[in-house]
Amino acid sequence: MKQNLRMKVFRTIKELQDSLKKLNQSKKEIGFVPTMGALHEGHLSLIKRSKNENEVTVCSIFVNSVQFNNKEDLANYPRTIEKDIELLEKEKCDMLFYPADNEIFQFEKPDISKYNFGYMESCMEGLFRPGHFKGVAYIVHLLFRIINPDKAYFGQKDYQQLIIIKELVKQYNLPVKIVPCPTVRESNGLAMSSRNIRLSEKEKNAAGIISKTLYEINNNNGHNSVTTVKNLFVELLNKNPLITVQYFDIVNADNLKSVDSWDRAKNIIGCVAAIVGKTRLIDNVFIAGGH
Ligand code: AMP
Repeated sequence: MKQNLRMKVFRTIKELQDSLKKLNQSKKEIGFVPTMGALHEGHLSLIKRSKNENEVTVCSIFVNSVQFNNKEDLANYPRTIEKDIELLEKEKCDMLFYPADNEIFQFEKPDISKYNFGYMESCMEGLFRPGHFKGVAYIVHLLFRIINPDKAYFGQKDYQQLIIIKELVKQYNLPVKIVPCPTVRESNGLAMSSRNIRLSEKEKNAAGIISKTLYEINNNNGHNSVTTVKNLFVELLNKNPLITVQYFDIVNADNLKSVDSWDRAKNIIGCVAAIVGKTRLIDNVFIAGGH
């Protein structure tokens, strides 16, 4: 594997921690961007933000088997490490942690059962991917313990994940600041995702309607009831033969509970999962308020 002088690539926890120890001793501020690789502009926006706000930026690439509840999805997850390293070097990322499975799971058999986020983990994505967020929390908690960053950067694109990570930090009183970052989109509005690689050109074009329709909710907001808007949204998307909506909900952005009126919560977000062709995509847009 090519190793550039600027970015250090670490494959073991020990080597990474030896390097980080020196930085900690000189009180360098560390920003951390956890990813599963197959990097795109969305991931790179997190790296850019961390570079702006910290003295050292650490990215991790680890396809976390524990958060996949579908073996096929795990096996098919895109892996593009050489290209990822090139992109990270271009962004002048300082360190990459790229461990193998047996490095991460060397100390313990992963036990995700201790993580409990109640309704937040069982709604929306949780309904279709049982145990997913426990697996996410397990790996993010482990990476936080290994790296001990001052700040960690997460995309709004995975909004439910962002809320769960904030809750993880609260529950375990972790000394890290979670920084939410806006969703980066393709020119047709499609939220960038590693899974977009699997879309055909036709599917990619069709998928643009997901965010367009999400943004249109802002126009409907106030004129129609929440239930009407939800039904209209699903109907509109399902009209396209390439798209099947799995769920769409309009929720309180702080606790993810469904809202039944527009003024019930200060922060309201619309969250959707849809299958386009064979690819499952998620997206969301704030309808009121924000972070
Ligand atoms: P992943 O590699 O899919 O696990 O994503 C790693 C991080 O990148 C997560 O915090 C994601 O929310 C974030 N991310 C993924 N796609 C985007 C995007 N289009 N815009 C902003 N952040 C993103």
